[in-house]
Amino acid sequence: MLKDIFNREINYLRISVTDRCDLRCKYCMKEKMEFLPKKDVLTFEQIERLVDIFISEGVNKIRLTGGEPLVRKNIEKLIDNIGKKIGTYDFKELTLTTNGTLLKQHAKNLKDSGINRINISLDTLNPLKYEKLTRLGNLRNVLEGIDCAIKNNIKIKINVVALKNFNENEFEEILIWCGKLGIDVTFIEVMPMGETDQYRYDQYLPLNEVRNNLIKKFSLENSNYKTGGPSKYNYFNKYDINVGFITPLSQNFCQDCNRVRITCTGRLYMCLGQEKYIDFKKYLNNDFSNQKILNLIYESLKNKPKSHDFIINKEVKPYLSRFMNTTGG
Ligand code: SAM
Ligand code: SF4
Repeated sequence: MLKDIFNREINYLRISVTDRCDLRCKYCMKEKMEFLPKKDVLTFEQIERLVDIFISEGVNKIRLTGGEPLVRKNIEKLIDNIGKKIGTYDFKELTLTTNGTLLKQHAKNLKDSGINRINISLDTLNPLKYEKLTRLGNLRNVLEGIDCAIKNNIKIKINVVALKNFNENEFEEILIWCGKLGIDVTFIEVMPMGETDQYRYDQYLPLNEVRNNLIKKFSLENSNYKTGGPSKYNYFNKYDINVGFITPLSQNFCQDCNRVRITCTGRLYMCLGQEKYIDFKKYLNNDFSNQKILNLIYESLKNKPKSHDFIINKEVKPYLSRFMNTTGG
């Protein structure tokens, strides 16, 4: 079992399979992004080797993310190969975070490969606002993708990044829309990752007040529901859905952190909100044994910080130079 120096058990691995994406969400990327050369990105074999090592050490949940995981060529193959490992050691769940634009084409394969739950990022239900925010997106594709996922019995959670003066007037509508579809929803505070073309402070909307207002308006109940993540949940009885709030800035949650992340180039980050990493790419060839890699993982865990370093205020530019799409959200 993997543990850090604060005795937190690490049983959840997130892997960014690509930094590329078919959208350019304004809080995540610049309009003109330079993506990594393909040779820098981990191959499927390298990713699977890491997966094998992590699950042999008790990691029981893996999430594939990006960039947009579904834009990576032949991603079904990787998903299928990792899906086949479910049931070995304690590995229980393979899941995915996606923007949903390509879900229609992939939903059935995902289900067949053992994916029963996905997170879909959707910050507005207004087609024009969606197009504006994502710069390239068409809301209809996402809605059709959601429909397909539901038809294939994939459980969905919608992730909504709360953006000041952009979608704050839509939260009630989004909540009811999710309720009617019977899908959980989580609101997330914007994090100061990477320098986009937008001023971060102008995007930041603390969620405490939003949460209190939604609790009042919809009589949301207190809940002990947990998904092993940083979300704090309320229960929406009328529709039997969970409503989560992720508040890295306004209310720190790091004491329960159970995860580490691998970037698409093979860097292992102990924390989304911290710059320290170990680069595994050079160790993922036949010159190095799994034991060597494992020793490095143990070594890295000593660097897992007690809490993240995110700060957001008027004066400070994004604290971290990394973009969310490379590290994986
Ligand atoms: N492309 C996929 C998607 O959008 O779901 C997966 C990758 S995306 C980087 C993962 C999650 O990170 C999404 O829910 C996205 O909304 C969120 N995200 C991206 N940049 C963020 C930021 N600066 N602060 C908070 N969440 C962010
Ligand atoms: Fe792409 Fe996801 Fe970033 Fe949007 S949030 S630009 S969909 S990686």
